[in-house]
Amino acid sequence: MPWNDKFECMPVEELKKFQLQKLKETIAWVSEKIPFYKNKFREMRITAEDIKSLEDVAKLPFTVKTDLRDNYPFGLCAVPLEEVVRVHASSGTTGKPITGPYTQEDLDQWIECMARTLYAAGIRKEDVVQNAYGHGLFTGGLGFHQGAAALGCTVVPTGAGMTERQITIMQDFKSDVLFATPSYALTIAERAEEMKVDIRKLPLRVGVFGAEPWTEGMRQEIEERMGIKAQEAFGLTELCGPGVAYDAADQNGLYINEDHFLAEVVDPQTLEPLPEGEKGELIFTALQRRAMPMIRYRTKDITRLWREPGHEGRTFIRMDKIYGRSDDMLIISGVNVFPSQIEALLLEIEEVEPQYQLVVSKKGYLDHLSVRVEGKPEIYEAGEDRRHEIEGKIAGHIKGNMGIGVNVELVDAKAIARSEGKAVRVIDERPKQER
Ligand code: AMP
Repeated sequence: MPWNDKFECMPVEELKKFQLQKLKETIAWVSEKIPFYKNKFREMRITAEDIKSLEDVAKLPFTVKTDLRDNYPFGLCAVPLEEVVRVHASSGTTGKPITGPYTQEDLDQWIECMARTLYAAGIRKEDVVQNAYGHGLFTGGLGFHQGAAALGCTVVPTGAGMTERQITIMQDFKSDVLFATPSYALTIAERAEEMKVDIRKLPLRVGVFGAEPWTEGMRQEIEERMGIKAQEAFGLTELCGPGVAYDAADQNGLYINEDHFLAEVVDPQTLEPLPEGEKGELIFTALQRRAMPMIRYRTKDITRLWREPGHEGRTFIRMDKIYGRSDDMLIISGVNVFPSQIEALLLEIEEVEPQYQLVVSKKGYLDHLSVRVEGKPEIYEAGEDRRHEIEGKIAGHIKGNMGIGVNVELVDAKAIARSEGKAVRVIDERPKQER
């Protein structure tokens, strides 16, 4: 049974009615409280009365990251700061950070969304949970902390980093659960192997991983190396942080907390809504937030939505694992390439470690992709010829599956920097104006 079967298992028609009501209330709220939306709606001559069905959400304007940057820090906040009880922020890679302010009501809703996420992962009150997400402005640390606290778990807020200490704590405290980014989970697994600690023999039973794209292959790798179930959480600062979507024990898609977030998928070029089942950019409208409800927020994340009767009676619409971000998509020899596609193929090669980086450079007018990946220790012992043979094998595997020619370099062991948070997978060496 889910954490909150009233909402998680609500009949779809009833759920849609609930969403429509909340959508209208949110439109009325933001048009009254946030000048940015008030002006936009006035220009477009839209009022809450124009929203008669959920499909009418398509009449509303999009919100993009630069709107948040332009209104930094609190220009999009609907309530006075004295009603804001917490502010998180995300730095992103360029420019000013964006902020996520919360009222107490917003925090309570977030905790509820995280409790659903963790309960669906099989976490219970008796569990000792080790929270290795960064604690601070990043939403991961406190988001997971509060969710686990709501379940009544014993929470150990280790934060990210100090990997050896993570492993010692895991042994000493007999942690049942680990929270981390998938790339940091792998860093922990690898360090434990070096310390001759077999995590598979420890009580650790489940991990909840997210905050960055990772493939099914990476999930299997983590499950095998740690001897756990690797569950997933998805979210973004603009909406609340983690807790927007989560998978259940069947690991078959991520359920979107639909009573809180209305999801759409649009064509990233035309921005036209796409039917269920088609891949495109994920858009969210917050339905119950008070401090900073986003209207049609463009996540840049690429996925597909689908609805089927779910695990333990869940009715929420599901999304596939994120394929990648539209701004991480590379075009190599005319082919659209997401880093996750390369990751999936690398994980099929048994001679390499799941530690890789993609380097994009310019050769003449064309973009060129180099794949830097580490081999398993025995490859290095076998000498140069074997190394080149594996490089050829990987290049052939990528060519055979994606039709693109890439340069593969089997780099030295530990040459790729280990991640403690969100892994840096792509290094862009192209001149800035040619990206
Ligand atoms: P931030 O607001 O800094 O936490 O970043 C949010 C972004 O992280 C999302 O828009 C996604 O691109 C990424 N992200 C979060 N969770 C996941 C996940 N489970 N799978 C893939 N990407 C994720």
